[in-house]
Amino acid sequence: MTAKEYNPFLSLDYQTALESLGEDYFDVVDAAVFPQKILRFRNDQLLQILGLPAEKVSDRHFTEAFGEFQGVRPFLALRYHGYQLGHYNPYLGDGRGFIYGQIRGGDGRLYDLGTKGSGTTPYSRNADGRLTLKGGVREVLAGEALFQLGVNTSRCLSLVETGESLWRGDEPSPTRAAVMVRFSHSHLRFGTFERLHYLQRPDLIERLLDHLIYYYYPELIGLEDAYPRFYAQLVTKVATLAAQWMAAGFCHGVLNTDNMSLTGESFDYGPYAFIPTYNPRFTAAYFDYGSLYSYGNQPRICYFNLEKLQIPLSMVIPISDLERGLAEFDECYENTYRQLMLQKLGFTQLSTAEGSELLAQTIQLLQESQIGYHQFFAELAQQFNYAWRSHPETILENSTITAGNLAIWRNIYQRCLQQLEIETIGDRLSTANPQTALLRPVIESVWDPIAQQDDWEPFYALLLRISQKQ
Ligand code: AMP
Ligand code: MG
Repeated sequence: MTAKEYNPFLSLDYQTALESLGEDYFDVVDAAVFPQKILRFRNDQLLQILGLPAEKVSDRHFTEAFGEFQGVRPFLALRYHGYQLGHYNPYLGDGRGFIYGQIRGGDGRLYDLGTKGSGTTPYSRNADGRLTLKGGVREVLAGEALFQLGVNTSRCLSLVETGESLWRGDEPSPTRAAVMVRFSHSHLRFGTFERLHYLQRPDLIERLLDHLIYYYYPELIGLEDAYPRFYAQLVTKVATLAAQWMAAGFCHGVLNTDNMSLTGESFDYGPYAFIPTYNPRFTAAYFDYGSLYSYGNQPRICYFNLEKLQIPLSMVIPISDLERGLAEFDECYENTYRQLMLQKLGFTQLSTAEGSELLAQTIQLLQESQIGYHQFFAELAQQFNYAWRSHPETILENSTITAGNLAIWRNIYQRCLQQLEIETIGDRLSTANPQTALLRPVIESVWDPIAQQDDWEPFYALLLRISQKQ
């Protein structure tokens, strides 16, 4: 290659894990050809995992690889089915994306580069295979915000505006278009197994289990009970993820089984929202009329989705083993949620009784006062003062909270403060509770300048604040 032609993305050591599964699991597809390729976001932090120094990667390299789709491996549109809002849909599959390639990161783990908005595939049905620019901007922000909040999430590697116009019912149209590349451990979903059950192919279910264990659960390789252990570990990962969403005040919005990853990561951010106030019934997706995927339902839905996954898995794993695995969900969820919430309150080592009481009182305070969920924790981090230990009436004295149990809450919070190394609490509060929350009005406030004046500065400024936990 000449120096001019060299593109570091085309010289990466692409892995063939998915290809090695065989053609039963994907279709080889082409990317659309776009009229423009304008780089709007590049994630230099992720380049480090790929072993690429950011200064060696130009914007042009990004647009060639992830806008023009110059590539190295075949592009694979994955096949899957799924339960959508409780109804089985056998007409799914990657309808506007594909796996561009797979890379082993510097951390030793396998990563997918998965596109969104890259054109039609055999699974597009009557849709256009495209992504709106606003949808891309929202997904970039979600990934970065959730990552900073400690959620096990996919992130976006790039967002390229494509110069096309799209028509959408949920955005003022025509609206601008983009293509995104998502960086995650796997795009294999609960729905990948569900399709194989639908096709009555236990052989393909076993092959997929072997694949998952080999690439993502290597500590199980060679164990006689590797399959039940895989499911039990997945239960733990999904319960942990649900707890992370709940503590982060995040409502995914579309917990269909085709949006549930087999590596237990959070991904695919459409109509998501961070909750404005603590309200279990808060619902993010406008089309979720029954509030099935409301904020408060998320742990239960994750449980149900894991239970539904037993249908395909029971073709090759004894149902009693699967039931034993799922039985661990509640305890794992409760423990993780309590631990994460207590961390948001500044604590890591309260007794179970004290921790449970503080958590219950905190939830009651958040619910009764309807103070902003993120605002409450941000204020706690910002106003924290050593004097709180001896003067409970000064705890959050500058807050706007007005609620019945504020006095009770202050007393228990003071009691907890008295037990612990107070010097470390301030740092913990700041780490767990960023000052900037990705509430919908905040997203709209950076989208409006883009839509109206093509002004991207507020978007980049917001990304910076998120990455610096300001
Ligand atoms: P989602 O709600 O984004 O998880 O998508 C559900 C299914 O619809 C997936 O199979 C997508 O690939 C497909 N899909 C969503 N939007 C489009 C689109 N604009 N064009 C083609 N397929 C789409
Ligand atoms: Mg999806």
